[in-house]
Amino acid sequence: MTEILYLIAAVCFILALQKLSSAETSRAGNLCGIFGMAFACLAVYMSIDVSEIWFILTAVAIGGSIGIFIAKKVSMTALPQMVAGFHSLVGLAAVLIAFSACFAPALFNISGENGIFTSSLIEMGLGSAIGAITFTGSFVAFLKLQGTYKSNYIPLSVNTCIAASIVALLVYFICTESVPAFIILTVLSLIFGATLIVPIGGADMPVIVSMLNSYSGWAASGIGFTLQNDLLIITGALVGASGAILSYIMCKGMNRSLPDVIFTAGTPASAAKSSSEAKPFKQGAAEDAAFILKNASSVIIVPGYGMAISQAQHALKELGDILKKNGTTVRYAIHPVAGRMPGHMNVLLAEANVPYEDVFELDEINRDFATCDVAYVVGANDVTNPAAKNDPSSPIYGMPILEVEKARTVLFLKRSMGTGYAGIDNELFYEQNTMMLLGDAKKMTEAIIKAM
Ligand code: NAP
Repeated sequence: MTEILYLIAAVCFILALQKLSSAETSRAGNLCGIFGMAFACLAVYMSIDVSEIWFILTAVAIGGSIGIFIAKKVSMTALPQMVAGFHSLVGLAAVLIAFSACFAPALFNISGENGIFTSSLIEMGLGSAIGAITFTGSFVAFLKLQGTYKSNYIPLSVNTCIAASIVALLVYFICTESVPAFIILTVLSLIFGATLIVPIGGADMPVIVSMLNSYSGWAASGIGFTLQNDLLIITGALVGASGAILSYIMCKGMNRSLPDVIFTAGTPASAAKSSSEAKPFKQGAAEDAAFILKNASSVIIVPGYGMAISQAQHALKELGDILKKNGTTVRYAIHPVAGRMPGHMNVLLAEANVPYEDVFELDEINRDFATCDVAYVVGANDVTNPAAKNDPSSPIYGMPILEVEKARTVLFLKRSMGTGYAGIDNELFYEQNTMMLLGDAKKMTEAIIKAM
């Protein structure tokens, strides 16, 4: 019965992933995930002694309450940190289970007359190493995304030495079953998780968060073998594989490769250039923007991190509706790394009930900027920066961008002439066809609506 329930749960999780890949079916995907989790829990309750259920229910009540508290309290802009924090806990869980198994193998049915089975030693060693890297790596990612810690240079040779020592200790542990080797292996992996992520910064963070997501999945899968839990193996593999695929897709979106992202982090970061000389630019008021928008027959809205900060999505939807009533074609263009996590902009626009059919990915809409009247850029900066195409010394060089500069008029909503996440100036602000609308994105959009 337990195996059948696990199988149903695994199918639910696979369906959940499949449905979560499109905005229209994502709610159904979430439901599939919830059902899968319910079947998984049911299977656990059925397979244990009734007297033990209270331990589990108490743990579920404590964990669930903390989960509800965090989910209600966390702001939309802090979601990436929250995801990194949760990954960190998955890594820690994997380390703790591997330690339990190492110290009490008989309880886990992983030992015979000749000691712990070799396959279990491999699973435990790998599970603990990957779990420890995930734990500290995600924790550093959390601190960076929270803004409490900035990148620091760590020579690649240091990381190479630590990685080589981890591999050597892993082999030694598998061959000798040495507990001290297991402990040192885990401590070195904890250090490696931090030293691997510390130098990575700027535009590479999204890839790192998704890579850590993948690690947490593989760690869970490894531990699934130790616990002989088929469902944990399958779910861990699903998380591991989907995280790896997402990392690959994002790297492709930024015209980078995964080794490039991880290994060039070991070289001193190219100093982010932000020009200190004051250059002339055109500044407009809400009334000017309203006039331009009223006369536009097609408008493409480009949301970025600033939209999330100011929570301008509802005002944007209202502006979009007014423009549509005026006969204007309104579309939204989403860059794969706009905001601070994959899908950040899609979630916010969906929250404001922006129709899915109005939302387009970079590849689908980029060539339409050349024929549109207005590109309305709301708190986006790096994802529109032409330096990614024109300046080989730029830290974002090679990243595909939304080509808003090709629109007849570009309206930029932001609070100042300051830089974005990558810390570099944007030449577009000083172009002839650009009008800067300086102010909070939500307040400025509301003022434009009023003026219209
Ligand atoms: P961005 O380059 O960080 O620019 C955001 C802009 O929003 C800033 O220039 C800021 O300018 C403006 N802003 C902030 N608060 C605002 C407010 N209340 N009202 C109006 N404007 C406001 O953002 P992006 O263009 O979305 O690019 C994303 C960047 O983040 C990329 O470099 C990407 O690689 C990186 N990143 C992405 C992810 C991901 O998964 N999506 C994760 C981590 C990092 P002012 O201060 O002048 O207002």
